[in-house]
This record gives sequence, structure tokens and C-alpha cells, in this order.
Amino acid sequence: METLELEQLVKQLVIEKLADVKGKTMKSVDKNNSGRGVFSSVDEAVQQAKLAQVKYAAVSLATRKKVIAAIREQFLPQVKEIAEMAVKETGMGNITDKIAKNKLAIENTPGVEDLVTDVVTGDHGMTLCELSPFGVVGAIAPSTNPTETLICNAIGMLAAGNAVFFGPHPGAKHVSFWVIDQLNQAIEAAIGIENLVVTVAEPTIEAVQEMMAHQDIPLLVVTGGPGVVGQAMRSGKKVIGAGAGNPPALVDETANIEKAAADIVAGASFDHNILCIAEKSIVAVDSITDYLIFQMEKNSALMLDEVGVKKLERVVLSSSHATNKAFVGKSAAEILDAAGIEYGFTPRLIICETTKDHPFAVVELLMPVVPVIRVKDFDEGLAVALELEQGLHHTAVMHSQNISRLNLAARKMQTSIFVKNGPSFAGLGFGGEGSTTFTIATPTGEGITSAQNFARRRRCVLTDGFSIR
Ligand code: NAD
Repeated sequence: METLELEQLVKQLVIEKLADVKGKTMKSVDKNNSGRGVFSSVDEAVQQAKLAQVKYAAVSLATRKKVIAAIREQFLPQVKEIAEMAVKETGMGNITDKIAKNKLAIENTPGVEDLVTDVVTGDHGMTLCELSPFGVVGAIAPSTNPTETLICNAIGMLAAGNAVFFGPHPGAKHVSFWVIDQLNQAIEAAIGIENLVVTVAEPTIEAVQEMMAHQDIPLLVVTGGPGVVGQAMRSGKKVIGAGAGNPPALVDETANIEKAAADIVAGASFDHNILCIAEKSIVAVDSITDYLIFQMEKNSALMLDEVGVKKLERVVLSSSHATNKAFVGKSAAEILDAAGIEYGFTPRLIICETTKDHPFAVVELLMPVVPVIRVKDFDEGLAVALELEQGLHHTAVMHSQNISRLNLAARKMQTSIFVKNGPSFAGLGFGGEGSTTFTIATPTGEGITSAQNFARRRRCVLTDGFSIR
């Protein structure tokens, strides 16, 4: 080799080495700030996820299963810490129920087994319908279930072969960065691919909108209120929209009232009622309403009189009769203290009688305040429950022993989840059969989402062969 050539080669090596060192330093600075998978710009995050997904698309299904198992193993021992961090940062919900919710997401979200292939064979050959990845999914999470949604979405989206860009709620960004870091740690340790799950260091609404418009994000999965779901719909992309709900619990005179009361208090007080599926109103047939209230009181619900309702209105509603966000996810005791209402025990739930038009019944309060609306009979009750659900197609609950009425209500309500004779959370596979999701796609109709919804359906046809019947 000539001297000049040698000199140039050494120069090149030095340049490469310096670039390498610089890259490593920048990465370690990034890690010190926010953790694995967190990038300073939306584009950088999407590009890194895109590169990671190309590598991931080449691995076997067995390797994908390894990733899902690693995620479950990573989070299960840390579930208490996750719950504590989420409550501390968001100031919403309670640690006991958040432990249960996170555990559910970790253990009961379907993995790769959810991708079931359809096949048709006949005289003209064989046709498969396979579920393949979209690429980088843009997923938006709410403040109310920040970690559960991230874990649940990550399991489903990675099982389907995608990478994920998460838009966490700014009010839950630290715990969300921690979850994203832990997801990447588990994935890297299991299969050596970095940045399959990414986000941006400042997850502002503008950054999330930039992500929605990014050309390398083909699918948006949005879990949140009507504003963000509407915003995603305007992107022109495929959207799986999991929006707000206002679930009524209808109780008729044939119900097991003791059980209905216990179930309603359990569901409506769970994590201080911040779940979108939680009972937001109780529609009760007149003949059993007093006994139902009595039984709910026996289950630690506090019944307010008219004076109490007036005091509560001033605290939990804004001047325009919307939700006062300062009290979303607060405990019954915190709300009562703020309203100056006395109580002789620690209530789990605040109940009161209102009309069906009262803001407590109509507005999604997301706090343990649930009105009871008295109706003369089942028919009126079903009409009121339908009105209160507001056509959101989200969740409804009914307590009855009358099969025909249960059947009629299930047909009329048209909700993604309809729980009969149980607490609302049975619809998430908690004390009820079935898998878990924290993304219940209501306006777009997927309902209980899982890996198969985060995949592209592709037909694969072989003519004149492989029909071997
Ligand atoms: P939110 O709508 O305020 O925020 C949800 C997410 O959207 C956050 O990450 C937020 O940063 C982002 N966002 C909000 N407005 C945006 C905009 N204009 N552009 C881009 N991004 C935007 O909701 P929240 O208070 O965090 O969560 C509670 C709401 O979510 C309730 O209405 C509840 O019913 C609903 N929710 C629905 C489901 C479901 O599965 N259907 C699950 C959980 C929560």
C-alpha cells in the first residue's frame, strides 16, 4: 500500500472512530435524560423505530413470542412501583386498583397467539388470509390509565410485528418514559433490537399532531377523549379510535339487589372511577330504588341529600357545567372535604338522586360521584339508559334476572361492552371471562382491541393446488 493511501485509510478510521464516540456520548446523554427510546424530535424517533421494525419484521414468530414473554417478565415484579409512580405523577386513582389494572394488562393482554390465519381450500387452490405488520404504529395514551395502556398496546402491537411510537399524556410523561425505557430494556435483552418502542422527549399536543401527520406512521391508535380522537380522524389515516364513554348501570326489579349494589359500588369506585368503562350513572326501577340505595350504603357508598348535591355541584363542576378537572380521579373523601360535606366513615363512592338531565348524569365526570335516576319501569329505564349512553357505543351494565330484558337491552344499547350482573370491570376480563384491553375502540368499531386489530389483513393465493381433501 502506498503511503498516501495508508494516510487516507488512517484518517478515515479516525473520523469513523470519532463519529462513533460522539454517537455513543449523545446516546448516553439521552439515556441520562429520559431513558431508552426517548428522542429529541418526532422525526428522529419515527426513523429509529422504522429501522428497528425492519429488523423486527425479519425475525421468527418464536422470537416475537420471546419479546412478549420478556415484557411480561420485566413488568410483573415491578407492578407496585408502576402503580405508585402513576398515582404520584398524575394525582389520580389509587395504588391498590392501579396494581390490579397493571397486573391485568401485563398478564391478560393477548400476544402472538391472537394472530389467527384464515384459510380456504377448494378446486381452485388455497387462499390464506394472514395478519401482517403495519410498520410503525402511532399510539396515543390517556392520563387516566397511562402505564396500563402503554403496556397493553405495546404487547398487542409488538405481537403483530410492529414498532410503536407512543404519544403519552404530558401529565404522565415521566412514568411513561420509564415504561418505554423498561419495554426497550426487555426487548433488547431478549432479542438485541433497540428502539422498537419510541417517543419524543417533549410529548406536547403539537408533537403528537406532528406524529399523526408523519408519512412513516400508517396506523393511529388513539385512546383518549373526543378531542384527540377527532383530531386523529382528520389525519386521513387509518384510525383505531378509543374514545369517551358514559356507561349507565340499569337495575330492574328482578335483579339480585344485594349483589347489584355490591357490584355497582365496586365498579364505580374502582380507581376512583377514572376508567372509561366505569358505571357513571345508575338507572333504577322505582320499586327497588330505595332498597338498592340502602344496599349501596351498606357497601360504603355515601348518599347525599339535596343540600349535599348543591355543595358537590359547586366543587366538581366548572362554571359551564363541565367536569372540574382538578377533581378527576380523586377519592370520595377528598371530594367531600373540598365540598365541605361531613361523613362519619371513609366512603368509597358518593351517590345522590338526580334527574336524567342533571350534569352528574350527562357529563363524564371520571370521579367517584354517581347519580341514581329513578324510573317507573324497565321500559322507561332502558330508554333513559340509552339516552345517557349518548350513542357512544362504549359500555353499559345491567342487573336483572329476566333473560328477555337482558337480551333486548344488549341489542338496543349497541355498546362495545355490555356487562350483565357484574361490575363494569368484568368487561375487561377482571372477574369476567375474556382478554384484557385498555383501548376499547368505540367510534371506529373494533371494540376490545388486540394484536389482530393492529395488523394488516393480506390475502395470499395459490391456484390449483393444496386442496388435499
Ligand atoms: P385526553 O383526551 O385529554 O388525552 C388523551 C391523549 O391525547 C393524551 O396523550 C393527550 O396528550 C392527547 N391529546 C389530547 N388532545 C389532543 C389533540 N388535540 N391533539 C393531539 N393529542 C391530543 O384524555 P385523558 O383525560 O387523558 O383521558 C380520559 C379520556 O379518555 C376520557 O374521556 C375517557 O373516557 C377516555 N378513555 C377512553 C378509553 C377507551 O378505551 N375508549 C380508555 C381510556 C380513556
